[in-house]
Amino acid sequence: MTRPKILILGGGFGGVFTALELAGSADITLVTDADHFLFTPMLYEYLSGEVEAWHIAPSYDELLSDNVHCIQDAVTNIDLTAQTVSLANHGEALSYDMLVLALGGVTNYVGVEGAEEFSLPFRKLGHADELRRRMVTSLDRIPPQTAPQDVRRDVTFAVVGAGASGCELSTKMADLLLDAFKRRALHGEPRVLLLEMGDNVVPGMGEQIRVFVDDALRQSHVEVHTQTRVVKLTGDEFTFEHQGNRETLKTAGVVWTGGVKMNPVIEKLDVEKNKRGVLIVNPTLQLPQHNNVFALGDVAFYADATPSLQGTAQLAFQQASLAARNVNAFLEGNELHTRHFEELGEAISLGTERAAVLAGGKAFGGALARQARFALYTSRLPTWHHRLRVGASWFLGGTEPRPLLPLGLER
Ligand SMILES: Cc1cc2nc3c(=O)[nH]c(=O)nc-3n(C[C@H](O)[C@H](O)[C@H](O)COP(=O)(O)OP(=O)(O)OC[C@H]3O[C@@H](n4cnc5c(N)ncnc54)[C@H](O)[C@@H]3O)c2cc1C
Repeated sequence: MTRPKILILGGGFGGVFTALELAGSADITLVTDADHFLFTPMLYEYLSGEVEAWHIAPSYDELLSDNVHCIQDAVTNIDLTAQTVSLANHGEALSYDMLVLALGGVTNYVGVEGAEEFSLPFRKLGHADELRRRMVTSLDRIPPQTAPQDVRRDVTFAVVGAGASGCELSTKMADLLLDAFKRRALHGEPRVLLLEMGDNVVPGMGEQIRVFVDDALRQSHVEVHTQTRVVKLTGDEFTFEHQGNRETLKTAGVVWTGGVKMNPVIEKLDVEKNKRGVLIVNPTLQLPQHNNVFALGDVAFYADATPSLQGTAQLAFQQASLAARNVNAFLEGNELHTRHFEELGEAISLGTERAAVLAGGKAFGGALARQARFALYTSRLPTWHHRLRVGASWFLGGTEPRPLLPLGLER
């Protein structure tokens, strides 16, 4: 008898954790466009050198057992009627009996002129590498004895969007640059701006944690501009608007953390979606009109979850066990399960020395929170084998940031 074919699309939190739980139970193929998983919550630490690529981006070869067949390719189209999936570099479409959609989102530039072309996104290892290179290059270009105001102009970076991502990133960048100024005996200070359309930083996070975030932004000398909209980017300048006044600044780099939108492959599907284009799923994670198709993570709107969980790794990670359980139940002809998903707590890294953690309704910050965050995230990495290797490396080898050295000395 042939085993049912399960196709999982997307090798992030939703896809990988579903594949790991299903491994061995059916004929499973995972299709994804990279050769490694990425633990996105620690991409900031990768930028600063506090962690290395192998800690947070293990290859699928290392993670997935022989029971999961992995294809590295880009999904271009899904045909829910023919039950096939087309890939960019595979001639023939793949057929499936059951489909799991976990393709995640993409950066949303909200139509700002020049944003897609000139800003840096921050979602992949390569984006962090490019940002680090930009920071180093801007420092390398400063001749010794340059006047402080000129240095400040030439080492100006902006981060767009002051959600958790923008705050984590801007404090990390500012700390790295401040440290580099001391090491290189440069005059003055770097300038890191954080630009937010809304009234507050970390909208959606509670007041308890915002106190630590505000404090960290101050300590890292990040210049916060709320009620400010970026309206235009060019190769080396950006323009922003605050209460009707426009200003244009020269910049060495603008990083865009201003939002996430639907994956274009999911956008093309003619199925039920909410007004943000997110797939509406049943409490079992199945698509309403296609009971052999499950969706989870950023592409799925699941009603029975704490609203702040939408678009988080926390939710995708928790949904993966429900998805795996229900795929098995479906195959065995058993009743499918439902679950309510809750916040597991918040942990946010703030600069290279601090973090803030909200757990059990209580928030704490500082160096202790930084250690707690490392411990918490060790436990969330995929597979025991990987957790043990990484945990031992952090415990024995430490998690110190890597200074921004001149380009020739960077590794
Ligand atoms: C820098 C950063 C930091 C974050 N920090 C946190 C945090 O601290 N806490 C938290 O809860 N959440 C955090 N998030 C959000 C979290 O990463 C996402 O909510 C989560 O990854 C969603 O999981 P997913 O499986 O839906 O999608 P993803 O994890 O994004 O996985 C989607 C996968 O599909 C692949 N893919 C996409 N399109 C295609 C295609 N056409 N063909 C083939 N493969 C494709 C992608 O490369 C990716 O591997 C962060 C996100 C970022 C970018």
